Amino acid sequence: MVDLQGQYAKIETQINQALQEVLLDTSFINGPAVHNFQKNLETYLGVKHVIPCANGTDALQIALMGLGLKPGDEVITADFTFAATVEVIALLQLTPVLVDVDPDTFNIDVAAVEAAISPKTKAIIPVHLFGQAAPMEPLMALAKKHNIFVVEDNAQGIGATYTFADGRQAKTGTIGHVATTSFFPSKNLGAYGDGGALFTNDDQLAHTLRGIVNHGMYQRYHHDVVGVNSRLDALQAAILNVKLPYLDAYNEARKAAAIKYTERLQNHPKITTPHREADCNSHVFHQYTLKIKEADRDALVAYLNEQGIPTGVYYPIPLHAQKAYRDARYKEHDFEITNALVQQVISLPMHTELTDAQIDYICKHILQFLNA
Ligand SMILES: *Cc1c(COP(=O)(O)O)cnc(C)c1O
Repeated sequence: MVDLQGQYAKIETQINQALQEVLLDTSFINGPAVHNFQKNLETYLGVKHVIPCANGTDALQIALMGLGLKPGDEVITADFTFAATVEVIALLQLTPVLVDVDPDTFNIDVAAVEAAISPKTKAIIPVHLFGQAAPMEPLMALAKKHNIFVVEDNAQGIGATYTFADGRQAKTGTIGHVATTSFFPSKNLGAYGDGGALFTNDDQLAHTLRGIVNHGMYQRYHHDVVGVNSRLDALQAAILNVKLPYLDAYNEARKAAAIKYTERLQNHPKITTPHREADCNSHVFHQYTLKIKEADRDALVAYLNEQGIPTGVYYPIPLHAQKAYRDARYKEHDFEITNALVQQVISLPMHTELTDAQIDYICKHILQFLNA
């Protein structure tokens, strides 16, 4: 699904040198590598504050802690996403409120969010799923009207650009009150281990979050709030610093591969290729995900696997149907889209090193199976 070796080979000298610098300097915890990466990422995103942390799941937890949410507060998020989002809500004893998604973009459905807002709602977590910007402008308007926070889960969308109705543009992760991301190796900006970060333009919230990631300390050995220990490792920061200048080129390579897939697959009646906006910048293709209709998706997965083609089903089970998150509050008819998507979706190999020959081979076998 990804080719991290091919990508490393192209930047090997730079990476090795950056690692060597940290090793010689021995500032393994919160040293210059972490500080430099923080500053460089703030500049890249156009955001006032980046707060590095240990992984994308911690980032979500820390964001919700920083907003001061209390047990019983309701947090709305999408039914069709990775479990980390709902996991941290439940872990903090907040009440997850799962809602359905848009059938074309796979992103959280604004009307469903609106219908789910109650007096207890304190936050909405849109996920920029598969790298495509969630509908931030209507979500922010809704949040303002009801005085609730928006936490962008940007783990899959780093580098994407959202365009507002008036033409103004902003990077995903800089629009909500706070945003989170992950540097898991297969993400668009991947480390060689775990890593994560929070972003915000709010000075006060940034200060709060910096304390929470560091045991609730704002002054050494003074613990003002309950915090956690969540740090971005210095070696990972050094790697990310080398890779950040390549992020736009990496995302362009993903988009180019996506366009080639779409050209080859878009006219087949059993395939729906991914929706994207005309300018294409709103989607950084963390995943390239097809919908397969009137064919056996699982048989296609098995057939492609026999041809040596890896695929992924993201995600095979709706969150509301997961054992850990089931609840009598949820009604199946409220999740019609997600319930259909889990049967239809298939994600193809997507990374920065895909060749035309590989794309041809993959598409040829998909069409062969569907035409048989
Ligand atoms: C990867 C991912 C996370 C979690 O990130 P980790 O760094 O693995 O903890 C959270 N949300 C989404 C949408 C993700 O894709």
